[in-house]
Amino acid sequence: MALSDFDLVLFGGSGDLAMRKLLPALYLRDRAQNLPPGGRIICVGRHEWSREQFVDAVNENAKPNIASAMFESVLWTSFCGRIDYVALDAGDPSSYQALVQKMRPDPAITRVFYLATPPSLFATICNNLAACGLATSNSRVVLEKPLGRDLASARQINAEVGRVFSESQIFRIDHYLGKETVQNLLALRFGNVLFEPLWRREWISDVQITIAEELGVGNRMNYYDTAGALRDMLQNHLLQLLCIVAMEPPVSASADAVRDEKLKVLRSLKRLSPQELAQNVIRGQYRSGHVDGMPVPGYRKEPGANPASRTETFVALKAEIDTWRWAGVPFFLRTGKRMADQLAEVVVRFKSVPHPIFAQPHGGYHNNSLIIRLQPDEGLQLSLMAKTPGDGMRLKPVELELDFRETFKTPRMDAYERLLLDVLRGHLTLFMRSDELEAAWEWVEPILKFWEQEEDDPIPYAAGSWGPAAASALIGRDGLQWREEALPEL
Ligand code: NDP
Repeated sequence: MALSDFDLVLFGGSGDLAMRKLLPALYLRDRAQNLPPGGRIICVGRHEWSREQFVDAVNENAKPNIASAMFESVLWTSFCGRIDYVALDAGDPSSYQALVQKMRPDPAITRVFYLATPPSLFATICNNLAACGLATSNSRVVLEKPLGRDLASARQINAEVGRVFSESQIFRIDHYLGKETVQNLLALRFGNVLFEPLWRREWISDVQITIAEELGVGNRMNYYDTAGALRDMLQNHLLQLLCIVAMEPPVSASADAVRDEKLKVLRSLKRLSPQELAQNVIRGQYRSGHVDGMPVPGYRKEPGANPASRTETFVALKAEIDTWRWAGVPFFLRTGKRMADQLAEVVVRFKSVPHPIFAQPHGGYHNNSLIIRLQPDEGLQLSLMAKTPGDGMRLKPVELELDFRETFKTPRMDAYERLLLDVLRGHLTLFMRSDELEAAWEWVEPILKFWEQEEDDPIPYAAGSWGPAAASALIGRDGLQWREEALPEL
C-alpha cells in the first residue's frame, strides 16, 4: 500500500534513539522506495541549529549506524533532503510557532508526532500541540518507552495523552512487537493447523521466555538505575511475548481483534501471593566478571553508579495463566544484563512421552520442544527424537531447523523500519493499547511494592554468567531446567 505524503515530527530528533535507530530506519525505507516524495522529517531539539548544521550532525551521528552494504551516497543525500530542523523547547508554548510555520496545513497530509523524549514531556508536548492547533484529526502520536514506572504513572500518561489524541491516534511502541520472528510466531500459530491442537495444557509442559543481554548498563545509568530489569524489559517486552505465545486465536488480524486477545492473557495472569512473590520472583545485580573473555566491572562500579544501588539488572519469575488452556503450565520469564550470551528466545516444551516403548536413549528421552529464536539469528527449531542409523532402535534427539535468513533471501527489515511504516500507514496491530499497558502494570506492580519493602539487596551474580543460582533453583522446583542448562555437554 502506497503511503500518503507525511510530515513526521521527531521530538528528540537530536537524541541517541533518533540517531542510532529512527533516522537510519527511515533512510532504509526510503532506499526501499517506501516513502512518498512528499514525506518530510522535521526533527526537533533545543539547540539553536540551522537546518544545515543539523544535517551535519545527522551525517556525523546517524550515517555511521547504516550498514555499509546498504549505504549509497546519492540516496543518502536525497534522504537528507527530506530532513528539516526546528529549535523548540517542549515546555515553552511560544516556541511551537516555529513548528507551526514548518507544517503543511493540507488535511490530506498525515501528521506524525514521534515523542522520542523523556516521558515526563509527553503530556506537555501533547497539550502544546493542541494549543497551537497542530493536533488535528490527520495527526498521530508515537510514544516511546518507558510508558510509566508504575500503574499510576502509566494511567497518567494514558489520561493526559488521551485528552488530546483519541486511542486510534496513539501508537505506543514496544519494538519487540516489530521483530520479524514475533510476527512469525503469529504466522506459526494462526497460519497453520499443526500446532493449535497441541498448544494447551494437555500437551505443553512449560514455556521459557529469555531475553539476555551481554551488554552492561553502558551510558544509560541515569535512566536505568531508576528503572531496573523489571520495568525496562519484563513489564513490556517479555509480557508482550508471553501474550503472543498464550493468546487465543483472534477472529481476525485486525488491530483490536489481536489486542483484545492479548489483553485477556494479561488479565488472566495469576496474581502472585506474598509467599509467591518471595519464592517465584528472583532479582539479581551483576558484579564484576568476564564477558567474551574481557574483564568487566560490576554494576555498582559502572561510571555514574550509586555504589549502594539496589537496582536489579536481572529478573526471573514464574508466571501462570488462569485459563482452561493454560491452567497449571508454568511460564518462566527471565531477562538480564551482562549475561553469558546475547539471546532472545521462546522455548515451548511439550510433555514427555507417556509410555516409552524403546530402550532408554543415552541421556534419556528429550521432551519435544519448539524454540522460537529472536536473537541473535532469527529462526525456529523443533526438537524431535529420531532413530540412530544402524542396528537396533537407539533414539537420539535431533533438530528440525528453519533459519529465516537462509529460507527467505528477501531483504530484511529492522523492527523500527516496520513500526515506522505501520505508523505512517495507520496500522495499530503492533502497538499496545492503553488497557493492555495498564493491565501489564497491574500485574507487575505487586512485585515492585514487594521489593520496596524488602530489606535484602538483589542477589549478586558474576557478569558473564546466566544470573544467580536462585534462578536455576526457581525452575528446578518444577523439576525443570533453563534451556542452556539442559543442553548436552559438547
Ligand atoms: P537522549 O537523551 O539522547 O535524547 C533526548 C532527546 O530529547 C534530545 O533530542 C533532546 O534534545 C530532547 N529533549 C529533551 N528535553 C527537551 C525539551 N525540553 N524540549 C525539546 N527537546 C527536548 O535520549 P534517547 O534518544 O536515548 O531517548 C529518548 C527517549 O526514548 C527516552 O525516553 C528513552 O527512554 C527512550 N528510548 C531510548 C532508547 C535508546 O536506545 N536510546 C531505546 C528505547 C527507548 P536536545 O538535547 O537537543 O534539546
